[in-house]
Amino acid sequence: MPVYDYHSDDQSARERMVRYQLEARGIHHPRVLDAMRSVPRHLFVPAERAGDAYSDHALPIGEGQTISQPYMVALMTQLLDPAPSDRVLEVGTGSGYQAAILAELADEVVTVERDPVLSERAQEVLDALGYRNITFVVGDGTEGYLPLGPYDRIIVTAGAPFIPQPLIEQLTPGGKLVIPVGHRYEQVLTVAEKDAEGHLHLSEHGYCVFVPLIGRHGWRSELDGEPEPDDLP
Ligand code: SAM
Repeated sequence: MPVYDYHSDDQSARERMVRYQLEARGIHHPRVLDAMRSVPRHLFVPAERAGDAYSDHALPIGEGQTISQPYMVALMTQLLDPAPSDRVLEVGTGSGYQAAILAELADEVVTVERDPVLSERAQEVLDALGYRNITFVVGDGTEGYLPLGPYDRIIVTAGAPFIPQPLIEQLTPGGKLVIPVGHRYEQVLTVAEKDAEGHLHLSEHGYCVFVPLIGRHGWRSELDGEPEPDDLP
């Protein structure tokens, strides 16, 4: 596990974040709370926003994208519930913060980002922090990433019009997928569990707002109102 050069102010900011934003709202998974306590979120936001890194909201990270609110990261990770031996696929690397949380909890993380600038920036931060169990892929994550699949857990950190079929196919039996599904400006946090026979069981966990998942099995562009009809399941 990486060793950080902790700044005591940041450590206490993380403690406050865990207590007042996460535990107070029902995040109870001990390993998730430990990961949220230890990953230095201020290193994943632009330097001029570092003072705001532990606040209770999403922040811009450049290229028109965002790092999700700490509570949303914790809630999705708690729902995902990765085991120490799991291989996890993340779609939407963004800042790399969620990938770091996953890398604390699972054996291997594969993270896919469509924007090469964001992917490279995230890789620099995560390499500097000493993470060695993360593979970075630039491409359309709605296609999953077949060469390293299947995955025990899949998490999508952008809003999808529906669950991309390749992600369902690349999920192991017994696996779990967490994804915001719905409209362009509001989604429902959805968990899909694949049973031993390959059947999916869906559950819903409240509303959320994510930037759009853009790709072959997602929204067609930043601006399009609807996915292409032939993409709909
Ligand atoms: N997980 C990120 C973090 O910890 O900072 C936040 C992700 S941000 C809310 C959503 C990201 O999904 C953006 O960086 C965006 O470029 C990316 N994205 C959108 N569509 C994608 C696709 N088809 N494949 C891969 N990444 C995609």
